[in-house]
Amino acid sequence: MRNQQATQLLSELSHPGRVAVHWPPCDVPEQPIEDIIPSNFLADEAPKLPELTEGEVVRHYTNLSTKNMSVDTHYYPLGSCTMKYNPKRNERLASLPGIVDLHPYQDQSTIQGMLQLLYELQGIFSEISGLPACSLQPAAGAHGELTALMAAAKYFKSIGEDRKVVLAPDSSHGTNPASAQMAGFKAVSIKSDPNGGVDMDDFRKKLTDDIAVLMITNPSTLGLFEKNMREIADAVHEKGGLIYLDGANMNAILGIARPGDFGADMMHYNPHKTFSGPHGGGGPGAGPICVTEKLKPFLPSPIVEKDGDRYKLDFDRPDSIGRVRSFFGNTGVLVRAYCYILSHGPEGLREVSENAVLNANYLLSKVKHFLPVPRGERCMHEFVASASELKKERGITAMDIGKRLLDYGFHAPTVYFPLTIPEAIMIEPTETESKETLDAFVQTLFKITEEDAELLHEAPHTTPISRPNEVQAARSPCLRADFCSS
Ligand SMILES: *Cc1c(COP(=O)(O)O)cnc(C)c1O
Repeated sequence: MRNQQATQLLSELSHPGRVAVHWPPCDVPEQPIEDIIPSNFLADEAPKLPELTEGEVVRHYTNLSTKNMSVDTHYYPLGSCTMKYNPKRNERLASLPGIVDLHPYQDQSTIQGMLQLLYELQGIFSEISGLPACSLQPAAGAHGELTALMAAAKYFKSIGEDRKVVLAPDSSHGTNPASAQMAGFKAVSIKSDPNGGVDMDDFRKKLTDDIAVLMITNPSTLGLFEKNMREIADAVHEKGGLIYLDGANMNAILGIARPGDFGADMMHYNPHKTFSGPHGGGGPGAGPICVTEKLKPFLPSPIVEKDGDRYKLDFDRPDSIGRVRSFFGNTGVLVRAYCYILSHGPEGLREVSENAVLNANYLLSKVKHFLPVPRGERCMHEFVASASELKKERGITAMDIGKRLLDYGFHAPTVYFPLTIPEAIMIEPTETESKETLDAFVQTLFKITEEDAELLHEAPHTTPISRPNEVQAARSPCLRADFCSS
């Protein structure tokens, strides 16, 4: 059971004179602070830091950590985000001193092991994607989108073409049109057909001669493999455009289908989703991208190359868009992905996807009897149910259901995304959950749909805070206690 008490702030727990650490007396001559920092940079008074013992601080943060949900404590069926179990082996290997104690400015001859790992990972990502060139630099999936689109823009410039339009289906993640806009393109949305795929008539209408890129999430955020993928890719290529695959849903097709084979020219991975890197709470991710040979010159610099039996960072890439991230990218996340991939091997990765799809179809077959799933009898790794009938009949919304699940110890699924399904509840079980957990989740979900509407409107009832104003929390976050007025 989660801790329900309101938490006192460290400043409220503070007692003057309490300390965590007793330093030994200084045994070298003390230097006046003004000799080190110019006096105009010095504060007039010391900051009012809380004074506590180490034990009080540890207890405070340990208790705080239990007020949140995590993959290690709760089932977390968050659609599109692939919240799978994060194997502890990855953590152990990623924190080996030979990895965490490296400094990015070390001479390349002293970081050959890390360079080898990154080089091999570039190759592994290329093999899984069917796209021969790879950059590990982008720091997140959305950053990978932007980086690849910037590379595409530079590619079109290099061949003297002025292309402006980036197409993306209306079920796409909001980052797709945002990245297109930031890379200097005009984002144009394509409608979905009644089955959740790309509406081919609308696609043909919007496929103009100045198409630069079509961005597509396949399998889509509805958990459906795009039936017309080949036809779409061929039509875009015929116009001289490129296909970008949003790889957030790679967990459904590892070792089964390769984006490079079904028409993609560029893609990103989300190692923190597909390859079990811990994420959530805005934690670090990575967004490596893979592209075709003709786009390779435009990838960010440096890329890790092999020179005889040595590995080196190749900066000599005159057409590159330049750096998009300091040093080599978020290597901690990349090392975890490398461990995960090598510990599964090719057959193991294929099994990951097969089981992710199996688990999703098992849940779909149970959930659809009490929460309609408007698109698809079958799904890939996730599916989208809708609470719109419940809302019409009893006023119960997707939000109510998501919030109430917290009371029963389940993290809420993704709600209200994609925008094409009203009262969307997007469920992605992942392959790391047992049948017992899935059954318990379905039973709870069903029970909630039978509960009193008033009880649901006020859920959650067991968390320290029930329903914050989400818009205000996002638009004007108040992160410092002494600045909060209410
Ligand atoms: C998560 C996600 C992204 C963005 O990835 P980040 O790593 O969060 O930046 C893009 N598209 C889809 C479909 C996603 O699920």
